[in-house]
Order: sequence, then C-alpha cells, then structure tokens
Amino acid sequence: MTHDIVVVGSGISGATIAQRYAQVLNKKVLVIEKRNHIGGNCYDFYNDAGILVSKYGAHLFHTNDECVWKYVHAFSSWRPYVHTVLSSVDGILVPIPVNITTVNLLFNLHIQTETEMQQWLATQVITIDHPANSEESALSRVGKALYEKLFKNYTIKQWNTSPSLLSASILDRIPVRTNFDPRYFSDKYQAMPLFGYTKIFEKMLSHPNITIKLNTDYFHIKDSLKNFEKLFFTGPIDLYFQKKSAKKLSYRSLRFEFETFDFPYYQVNSVINYPNDYKFTRIVEFKHMYGQKHPKTTISKEYPTWDGDPYYPVLSKENLSLYGFYKTQAALESKKGVYFVGRLANYKYFNMDQAFANALNLFYQLNPHLDKTKGLDYNKIQSKA
Ligand code: UDP
Repeated sequence: MTHDIVVVGSGISGATIAQRYAQVLNKKVLVIEKRNHIGGNCYDFYNDAGILVSKYGAHLFHTNDECVWKYVHAFSSWRPYVHTVLSSVDGILVPIPVNITTVNLLFNLHIQTETEMQQWLATQVITIDHPANSEESALSRVGKALYEKLFKNYTIKQWNTSPSLLSASILDRIPVRTNFDPRYFSDKYQAMPLFGYTKIFEKMLSHPNITIKLNTDYFHIKDSLKNFEKLFFTGPIDLYFQKKSAKKLSYRSLRFEFETFDFPYYQVNSVINYPNDYKFTRIVEFKHMYGQKHPKTTISKEYPTWDGDPYYPVLSKENLSLYGFYKTQAALESKKGVYFVGRLANYKYFNMDQAFANALNLFYQLNPHLDKTKGLDYNKIQSKA
C-alpha cells in the first residue's frame, strides 16, 4: 500500500496533520506510532475502577485562538471547566498563581484592593529590567519571599536545575494577579472534552484515508517507506538526526503513581502542588477535571525524572543553542519533503492549543490555496467517522 503522507506520531500534532491531509486534500495518510495507543501524552482511559484517568498527567485545554477553538469542536463536545491550582505551603493551601488571597494567607495580611496589592508587591519585588532567567523572572514579579515559598523548590524538583539556569519563559508561564482571580489560566476559552481526549483522537484519525500502525518504531521501518510526498516528524528532533550529532537535547520526564480510593473525593481541588515537601511535585485528582460522578476516586502523584518518555524540553542556554543546530538541519530536510511539527520536534514548551495551532499553521502554510478560516468551521466540516 502506498501513502502520500507519512506522519510519525499520533499526538496532537500528528493527528492534526493526518486529519487535515486525509479530509481536506483527500490524501492517503500513514500514521506511525511507537506506543500501543494513539493520542500521545493526551491519552486517557477508564481504569479498572471505571474512572477516567490521564495516563501521562493532567491535560487542561485553554485557548484564545478562535481557529483552534473551532477546530477542536469538530471532534468533541466540551464542558466548561475553569482550572484552578492550590499550593501546599507552610501547612496551608493557597491559590497559585499568586493573587490577593495567596498573599493574605501566607503573610497574615488583609489586602482588599488591587491598589493595596500593587503597593505590597512593590515592597517585595527586585527591579530587574530584562529578566534573563526564571529566577530573575520570579524575583522581578513577586520578590524573594514568594519565590522561595512557591517557585524555587518546585522548579528545582521539576527540572533538576536551578531556576537561574532556566529560560525566563518557564516561570513567565505563571502570571501574578493583583486581584482575587483564582484561575490558573487567563484564556477566554477553557474546557474539557466531554468524553475525554482519546475519543477526540479516535475521531480525528478514523477517516478512511488514514492507516495507523501502532507499536511501530519509525526508525525500524523508515527504509521501507518510499514514494511519499511528505513526511511529518513529531518526535524529538535530536532523535531524527541521531546520526548527524551525538549531542543530545535534554528532556524532562514524569513518573506517575496512581492510587484509587473507596471514597468519592481525595482532595478539595483537581491539582494540589507541593513545592517544598515530598519528591512529587503535585497530586492530580481526575474526577474534578472530567466532571465524572463515581463513588470511588483515582489520584496520580507526579515524580519528575530523567528516565522515561520525553515530556518537557529543558530550556537552558546549552540546549537552546544545540537546538539551533538541529533547527538548521531541519530546514534543509524540507527540500526532501520532511517537516518537523510539535513540542518535541520544535523543542518548544507548547500548551495544547499551541500544538494544535502549530500543526494547523504548517498545514495551511504548505497549502496556501486553502482558506483556513472556512476549512475549520465546525458546523460545516463533517468527520467521515
Ligand atoms: N511552577 C512553580 N511552582 C508551582 C507551579 C509551577 O515553581 O506551583 C513552575 C515550575 O518551574 C513549572 C513551571 O512553573 O515547571 C510551569 O508550570 P506549569 O504548571 O505550566 O507546568 P506544566 O503543567 O506544564 O507541568
């Protein structure tokens, strides 16, 4: 069987590229997936107790991107879900991102207004004009006391690296609020898929033009793939070029410890962070996110580790400069019809919506005759599932 398009990986990036080529351009698409399931790290499933859990950690969908919001509605109904996170510090639970409640609880204050909060923050922050790393980012936005209580140890645990050696963009992900807003994300659209993420991938990939090969390592079969128009690689970029350079990019991974209990809820919130205690960074309780009603509950403790599948690019100066080398190599591959898409292939800390946007943008860049705004209208596109 010949295929026009080969896609390596079936996570957000791979599934989006495959779905677009199959449906919009009627191309025959082969999706090669190393794992025994589709969906990449978004994969969720019902465990033995019947509880919907995420195999690779919590995935929260949030976006301001109208195109992505439209696109994801073609494959699922969504339930509104506004994500909040609590952090366990000094024996109490406080909201994160930092807001007025966080500061009042941690420092026994009675701040009531944005102006009072701004004044208090002004007494804390260290003026740094252009924060060059994550430590400077935090010190310049919340000051030393909050940095040490909430961010420093969590970041060291998560990345096994000092925040001073990590790109400012990592701690810039967490805003600082001068009001009482408890939301983790500020985006206009925040939601969870009504039936879980795996169902979305099943629908995206169920097009008759798409063939999926699970349990298949691309590098084992690549010599047998011939005459395709384009190949999209969504794995780690340094893995693709393993023959060109022995230097490896580093990726942080997570190990998950699942526990199920015979009572309906384990904790008061979907995610509780533990910056200063334990070896895990956070405990996730899935029912809060998926909205499932069940007499039992399952939690997962997340332990950062260097072993295991690559999850997070470690944005240090060394890695970013090495990525520059790979990026140049990647650009040359496009002459052969090979493209790199997604978080691992672009070595970027993408959120879910950014991964969708990255894949959609690549598809429409490569096919400029198509009108993206019309093609994504979920009232019009019909999945051929
Ligand atoms: N972070 C922290 N304390 C927290 C939450 C996050 O120091 O309570 C830092 C940590 O370095 C983390 C980064 O902020 O890796 C980004 O957090 P996010 O919640 O976006 O991480 P993800 O959900 O992608 O693992």
